[in-house]
Amino acid sequence: MNIAMLARNPRLYSHQRLVEAAKERDHEIRVIDTLKVYMNITSHRPEIRYAGETLPMFDAVIPRIGASITFYGLAVLRQFEVMGVWPLNESVAIGRSRDKLRSLQLLARRGIGLPVTGFAHDARNTDDLIEMVGGAPVVIKLLEGTQGVGVILGETHSSAKSTIEAFRGAKQNILVQEFIKEAKGVDIRCFVIGGKVVGSMMRKGAPDEFRSNLHRGGSAERVRITPEERSTAVRAARTLGLNVAGVDLLRSNHGPVVMEVNSSPGLEGIEKATNLDLAGMIIEFLEKNAKPNKTKTRGQG
Ligand code: ADP
Repeated sequence: MNIAMLARNPRLYSHQRLVEAAKERDHEIRVIDTLKVYMNITSHRPEIRYAGETLPMFDAVIPRIGASITFYGLAVLRQFEVMGVWPLNESVAIGRSRDKLRSLQLLARRGIGLPVTGFAHDARNTDDLIEMVGGAPVVIKLLEGTQGVGVILGETHSSAKSTIEAFRGAKQNILVQEFIKEAKGVDIRCFVIGGKVVGSMMRKGAPDEFRSNLHRGGSAERVRITPEERSTAVRAARTLGLNVAGVDLLRSNHGPVVMEVNSSPGLEGIEKATNLDLAGMIIEFLEKNAKPNKTKTRGQG
């Protein structure tokens, strides 16, 4: 196969592993810096240009679009889709996953377990908003945050209220969420490929840290998940329409709850924790599924 990978930094572990796994299986893979692509979007002869050349047709494209370049990255991916290149994850599905509120609404509609979550624009009803999700302590999240930045624990009603008001003052969109205390700073990342959980790890926050992100000094180890956790992760990925996803769960008193569904899940933490060749599994999934003009949405929507 002739594969394109949209990625800004080819030196990242995940990107290197995908290149390695593709080459091991005798595929051609080319890393394309998403922000250096420019496009001719006219309908009769769409074109993707890169450093003065027209890119050839690929059999598949692996989008690794960082959160900070979602807008342009999705436009580039849509252009590949319009031209009939099969994407590992479709632009529409990635777009859904990048909007935390939209994702949670879609998951809620399917009855998937979620932390009780509130969202409001007007600061006047903050007291009620905090009570609505069960009262302090609550977790306050910036809608645009990643890697745990912008996730704050409001331990008391008054500290939660002042944090919410400060964010509102700064014109930031936020979610207010029930704090799943019983998770004890541990979350579970389920790596889903093609409707199956192929690996899972437990991440534990640094001491005195309720956020378990590895980027915040957390540690990870392989974990066995329950059938309920497995089906929750698979349904979450399917609901957003993602072939490959990292589904983050918390173990709550009311069963597994989905915190987030990541459409470009990192490989380093989970490959090291589980000893699994997830990059290889992704390439095998492409081998089985990539067909020209088979994109469901072909960039629409
Ligand atoms: P990000 O996308 O920035 O990583 P998350 O929503 O995944 O943000 O939150 C970061 C971490 O904070 C999670 O991995 C989890 O450990 C902790 N956390 C987030 N939401 C809750 C919650 N409602 N209850 C308990 N812990 C939470």
